[in-house]
Amino acid sequence: MTSPVWHPFTQHGLGAPIPKVVRTEGAALHTADGRRVVDAISSWWVTTHGHSHPRIMAAIAEQAATMDQIIFAGWTHEPAEQLARDLVAIMPPELAHVFYSDSGSTAVEVALKMALGYWANIGAPRHRILMLEHSYHGDTIGTMSVGARGVFNRPYAPLLFDVGTVPFPEPGHEQATLDALDTLCGGADPAAAFIVEPLVLGAGGMKMYPPALLAEMRSICARHGTLFIADEIMTGWGRTGTLLACEQAGIVPDILCLSKGLTGGAVPLAVTMATREIFDAHLSDDRARMFFHSSSYTANPIACAAAVANLAIWRDEPVRARIADLGTRQQAQLDRIAAHPLVRTPRRLGTIAAFEIAPARDTIGYLSAIGPALMAHAGTRDVLLRPLGDTVYVMPPYCIDDADLDAVYGAVASFLERDL
Ligand code: PLP
Repeated sequence: MTSPVWHPFTQHGLGAPIPKVVRTEGAALHTADGRRVVDAISSWWVTTHGHSHPRIMAAIAEQAATMDQIIFAGWTHEPAEQLARDLVAIMPPELAHVFYSDSGSTAVEVALKMALGYWANIGAPRHRILMLEHSYHGDTIGTMSVGARGVFNRPYAPLLFDVGTVPFPEPGHEQATLDALDTLCGGADPAAAFIVEPLVLGAGGMKMYPPALLAEMRSICARHGTLFIADEIMTGWGRTGTLLACEQAGIVPDILCLSKGLTGGAVPLAVTMATREIFDAHLSDDRARMFFHSSSYTANPIACAAAVANLAIWRDEPVRARIADLGTRQQAQLDRIAAHPLVRTPRRLGTIAAFEIAPARDTIGYLSAIGPALMAHAGTRDVLLRPLGDTVYVMPPYCIDDADLDAVYGAVASFLERDL
């Protein structure tokens, strides 16, 4: 019998088999047909410490034994209070307030609403949002609106709102980016907010840009009063080598979005952190000025407990050393694979390594076939990879060992030896 499940970003019509996973552990997925698959992409960038980290699993079990879910409007619970205190203690002190939601997309939706709510509540409404070219911030209506347009959102275009797009800072064209941002921020109708993925644009092709540019973009926004929203949903929790990518530029955003590694990737949870000014703009005896956002599961206690355990792991275990070590090992693998003539633009930041594969035969449309072909090939070698078109990236859990990392790059290397 065919399954009734409709999978995300999956063309069921191609008939590719969908592996069933029955158990996870560390860097591995164990399948129903007895395979051990190396998870080279941390199951869509969420699993930071490794799958089924015992301390996170224990925290979930313990919390589930005492409290499942409560309304969070006007009520609270200790896991949410504890997590907010722990986050405020570890994140930049300017980000004094924590708003909970349940996915990366909702964290960004919340950020956009907070920004417009701020301007409305201080009596100086601003409406325009700016984004960086090639960005991805999620698949809900608001997040698609502030992301790159393409085949993946074309049918939904009538639902999307207009935003100002700042060109990506391609090497040699950085000043054009800064000038465009300066122009788009200012004028008679100044921009409300600029949203950006700091240092690495993930789904847009693992495009990287230097910290100095991020710092300059931040100061242009500050000059115009445009709120700076950092979407660290992928880059946060050590992915780029530091807890936040923003740290490398020495900047603090007005609004910070975190998810994925917030719970170590175990259960869905997100936060949008904001400055005192943004919170205070919503503080009033007028109910019309409160922040109008919620979902049924806001700050689910079990998810909050998992995130508290994640922060304890960051405190107690040598996470930063693991990240640095993985970065070094990724670089060595990248250097080796970069010697292949079909590999272009190898790059790495922290634990993220990426490059493009340019096939020798320049068949029309072939580039876009690289991703699915490599994914299928890697699958036969018990490696989970999911390239973005012709962009291959490796973003494993921090606990991956040398043998598993060798298996990942071995799968890529054997693919490169095929008749491309
Ligand atoms: N923002 C960034 C930078 C992301 O990489 C993603 C997901 O990959 C999102 C937002 C959306 O997160 P979610 O898939 O949890 O909604």
